[in-house]
Amino acid sequence: MAINQSQDGKQDHAHDFRYYACVNLWDNGETTGVIDVWRCSVCHAKGIELRAQGLNNLATETGFPVLDGPDSNWVVFVCTAQEQVRYEVLRVHIGDVIEHQCVEKSSPIMVGKGYKIADEKDRYHKVESIEGYLNENLDLALVK
Ligand SMILES: [Zn+2]
Ligand SMILES: [Zn+2]
Repeated sequence: MAINQSQDGKQDHAHDFRYYACVNLWDNGETTGVIDVWRCSVCHAKGIELRAQGLNNLATETGFPVLDGPDSNWVVFVCTAQEQVRYEVLRVHIGDVIEHQCVEKSSPIMVGKGYKIADEKDRYHKVESIEGYLNENLDLALVK
């Protein structure tokens, strides 16, 4: 297992990642992706690997370059502006602005309270923390 450095450099141990949970991403009644969540047994920081359409980011071999912490969460960002739902899995803090190219983007996509999208009037974009969906299905169409 690779030794990871936390971004703030305060880490005093080699993370010991254990498989923690998975989140099934559903779109139209089919699994469109699976988020594998790994958690350090020492500090409980979580890294993820997204399995989608045969693409793996190989995080389990290279370590997890991005980890959550006490003031951040892993979220699914969903864009429904196109016929095919687009999504990304991101580690965000409240107040972060998600970079996104889109014809239906009317305001900056900011992460608000409860890791939901700050602009509730944005009909095309949604943000949902994965924390409530560990070992469950997260239906991209139903994310509010
Ligand atoms: Zn750790
Ligand atoms: Zn969009």
